[in-house]
Amino acid sequence: MMAGAAMDRAKRRLDEYFDRDELKRFKMERSIGEGASGNAWKVSYRPYTEDQVRASIDQRPNPEPVPEVPEVQHIILKTSKVGTLFFDDQFNKEWPGEREDLNEEEGEDFDPYNADDSIGHEKAWLRKFRFSKHVVKLIEPPMTPFNRIFPGLRRRMTRDDFMFLEYLENGSMGDFLEKMMDWQGVARIPNRMLWRCFLCLIRACIAMAWPPTEQDAGNNTEVIESTKDVEARGIVHDDLHVGNVMFGPLINDPDEPEHHASVPMLKMIDFGRMYEREDRPGKWNQPTGVTDNIFAISILMVNLIEGSSFSAYVMSPSTPNILDFQLHPGGATLQTTATSLLENGRFPLLDPLLRGYVCACASPHPNQRPPLANLATAAMAAIRNHDQAWYAANLPDAAGDESDDNVEWFVQNFLFSAPTMEQQAAPGGNAQNAIVLS
Ligand SMILES: [Zn+2]
Repeated sequence: MMAGAAMDRAKRRLDEYFDRDELKRFKMERSIGEGASGNAWKVSYRPYTEDQVRASIDQRPNPEPVPEVPEVQHIILKTSKVGTLFFDDQFNKEWPGEREDLNEEEGEDFDPYNADDSIGHEKAWLRKFRFSKHVVKLIEPPMTPFNRIFPGLRRRMTRDDFMFLEYLENGSMGDFLEKMMDWQGVARIPNRMLWRCFLCLIRACIAMAWPPTEQDAGNNTEVIESTKDVEARGIVHDDLHVGNVMFGPLINDPDEPEHHASVPMLKMIDFGRMYEREDRPGKWNQPTGVTDNIFAISILMVNLIEGSSFSAYVMSPSTPNILDFQLHPGGATLQTTATSLLENGRFPLLDPLLRGYVCACASPHPNQRPPLANLATAAMAAIRNHDQAWYAANLPDAAGDESDDNVEWFVQNFLFSAPTMEQQAAPGGNAQNAIVLS
C-alpha cells in the first residue's frame, strides 16, 4: 500500500504526463482504488481520433478542417504496482535511473521487483472480449503520453504497467449490496431484477465459452453473446465475486429490449486471474471451464437473493452441506450447495423457477448444472413472461414488489443513489408495497 503522500506524488506525476499531451485529452480526477497489484484512477478523456492526435504531435495542419472537440467521457486508468512505484520519489532514489533506457519497441523490459505482469495479461484477455457486451471495455487511446518520451520527463512505465478501461458509473454488485444492507428493513431484491441480473451473468459465461468475434458483431461495436454449435472453450474468470461484477448504465438495447431497459447491464471486470483450462470434453461429470463459471455465478445469485455479500462464501462444490431439490415439481431429484434457498420459509417470495435454476447451477455435480443455452432460454422467457401480471396471478404476496413502478423505484434508489430518509417511502407513500420487512 502506498502512503497518502506517495499517492499524491504519483497522481502529480501522472498529471505531468497528461499535461504533455498536445490535445490535452486526459485530466486526472481522483484515485478510486488501491489494491495489492496496483492502483485505479478516474480520468476524464476526450477521444480524439488517431489522425487528429498524429497531426497535433507532428504540428501538421489538422486533417479535418475544423477539428471537433470530442465530448468528455470518464474512463479508468489502472496502473500496476511497479508502474506506480516508479512515480514515487523514494523509489527513484533507491533505483536511480533504472528506466532511462527502456525501449519498448526493441522488446526490452526491466522490472526490478520482478513484478507480476497482470495488466499485460488482463489487456490480452480484454482484447479477446472486445465485441462482448457483458465484459468491461478496454480503451486504447492512440499514442498515450505514457508510451512516449518527452524532453525533460523520464519514461517510467512500460505498456504493461497501465491500461484504460470503460468507467462503469453504477458501482459493483458489492456496493449495491452494501447500500441495501445499510438500509435496514429491505430484505429482498425484486424477482424481476434478479432474473435480469441472472441473464447478464449467464451471458458473461457464454462470452467465456464462445467469445464473440468481429464477424458476430457485424457493423456493431459489441453484441449480445450467444451460444454456438461448436465445443465451448475452457476460459475461466477464476475471481468472480461481488466486487468484480459492475453495473453499467440503463440502455435501450435493440438486441434484447426487455433485458436492459429497467435494470442496468452487469459486466464482468478484473481478468487478472483469467486462464483457459484444457478440458477433456465428454469425460462424464468432470468439471469444465463452463461448469466452473456456472457455479461461480450461482454464488453471485445467492448473494443477491440473500441481499448480502457474506453468506455465500461458504458455498463450494466440495462442501458436505448439500440438499436435494427438484428444478420442476415432479422432476428429477438433483442436489445443490445453495442450501439457504431451500430453508423452510426463508425466501417465501422468491420465484420458484429462479430458485430451481440457481440451485441447479450450484449443484456439487458438474453434470447437474444446466447447459448455458438452456439457462439463457429460461432466463429470457422469464424476463418476458414473468411480468407484473404474472406475479399478481402466481405469487400474489410479491405482487407489490414486482410491479413496474416498484422495480423502477428500487433500481433508482439502490443502484443509482444512496437512499435518503425521504426516499424511503415507496411510490404512493406505501412503503409496504416496495419492501419486505424482515
Ligand atoms: Zn445483460
